Amino acid sequence: MAIYYSSTRNADIKVSASQAILKGLADDGGLFVPSEIPALDVDVKELASMSYQEVAYEVLKLFLTDYTEEELKQCINHAYDSKFDTEEIAPLVQADGAYYLELFHGATIAFKDMALSILPHLLTTAAKKNNVTNEIVILTATSGDTGKAALAGFADVEGTRIVVFYPKNGVSPIQEKQMVTQKGANTCVVGIKGNFDQAQTGVKQMFNDTAFAKLMNDNGFQFSSANSINIGRLVPQIAYYVYAYAKLLDNDQISAGEQINVVVPTGNFGNILAAYYAKNMGIPIDKLICASNENKVLYDFFATGTYDKNREFVLTSSPSMDILISSNLERLIYHITGNDAKKNAELMNELNTTGVYKITPDMKEKLADFVGGYSSEADTADTIKNLYEKTGYIIDTHTAVASGVYRSYVKQSDDTKKTVIASTASPYKFTRSVMNAIDKKYDAMGDFELVDELCKLGNVEIPQAIEDIRSAKILHDRVCEVNEMPQAVKDFLGLK
Ligand SMILES: *Cc1c(COP(=O)(O)O)cnc(C)c1O
Repeated sequence: MAIYYSSTRNADIKVSASQAILKGLADDGGLFVPSEIPALDVDVKELASMSYQEVAYEVLKLFLTDYTEEELKQCINHAYDSKFDTEEIAPLVQADGAYYLELFHGATIAFKDMALSILPHLLTTAAKKNNVTNEIVILTATSGDTGKAALAGFADVEGTRIVVFYPKNGVSPIQEKQMVTQKGANTCVVGIKGNFDQAQTGVKQMFNDTAFAKLMNDNGFQFSSANSINIGRLVPQIAYYVYAYAKLLDNDQISAGEQINVVVPTGNFGNILAAYYAKNMGIPIDKLICASNENKVLYDFFATGTYDKNREFVLTSSPSMDILISSNLERLIYHITGNDAKKNAELMNELNTTGVYKITPDMKEKLADFVGGYSSEADTADTIKNLYEKTGYIIDTHTAVASGVYRSYVKQSDDTKKTVIASTASPYKFTRSVMNAIDKKYDAMGDFELVDELCKLGNVEIPQAIEDIRSAKILHDRVCEVNEMPQAVKDFLGLK
């Protein structure tokens, strides 16, 4: 069954999967959505004995229907290989009654690697399939983790260049060091004097700038996006929820068909949307628990049905979730309108002009599977400390937001279903916040001293990604104003 992709804002736009991946965003500013969410065509019992790569294939083949089996398998095998430090790719760790799905075993130790290790392969394959001769320029805004994962994925990939914008004062020291030391002649990293939402808006404006697109095309370039709005990132993320369910079954933690809950620390809404797709493909997931930090725009949305970005932007210890405009929520909004692009476009227009929209009671009813929760900074630190003291297991700040929300949910609901918590980053990526949560005395130490202390405390090997940046040279030092972003891109590409 061939799946095509239309825009969340215009039902008349219809493209193939490979075209949607190439474009990233639809011309009208909408996001590409599949014509239907296909049902898995293998039994979960069969999935239980499959490797990560095999499960990924079962998911990808249903969504990316214009890729051949050989193309998909090649992409999968190039992505999920020894770049990951475990053959399981996404191991499940049981701690204090929950299952932590560790999504941080890839090259840059955050869950973004799960999708960004395969996206360059999906994209270059798509370019070949569609006879694209332009060089593809990946333009990305990052709240910290996407940037490095995209840089690692695209560095030295033939036929591509990549430009990453990050908020100069909005990422962790380790995150920044990871990005500004990136090698590869086709890479460019720029700090902006603004926050993530401004970076994301700046990037979206460049995508929608037709004069810029023409200038690019005249010089043999075209833009594409590695942001989580690209369907080529969303689809590979579905695979690990299917895999997690299969592994729970394989390890006799659940019986076939038993419902589980999933908790996801959420920013741009990509990761939890993938869980929603997994559920709609037939994986027995009951509640989708959306965990926010103090930027709790999504918590308020699930509580009231009103999305309101007009509020103060808070810098927290979970910077990859410091987001007020959750781009991928647009796909969910589209689905709960009953796939009504016109209605969705109206709401998104309101968001653009006033910063607020309100969904109808009918739409709100369709959100019954979602539970919103949030953790304050103090709760998040307590969660890290308590879990460590109870079990010895150390989680990062983002995962701790989810873990804290999960604890309060269980208290309030008495829901005893087995629960998978998406563990989205290695604690080594947010060493200072993690160690400070365990004991304030660590604050006096340097960043890499903290790395060594964390290693002793948690008894977990220091990831290669951290070893690599200890002494790496800074190769990118450009910082610009938000309105200078287009110029930074032109300079890098040598355009006038
Ligand atoms: C990106 C990120 C998130 C948020 O994921 P979304 O898909 O944007 O909701 C959470 N935690 C970490 C560590 C991240 O890098």
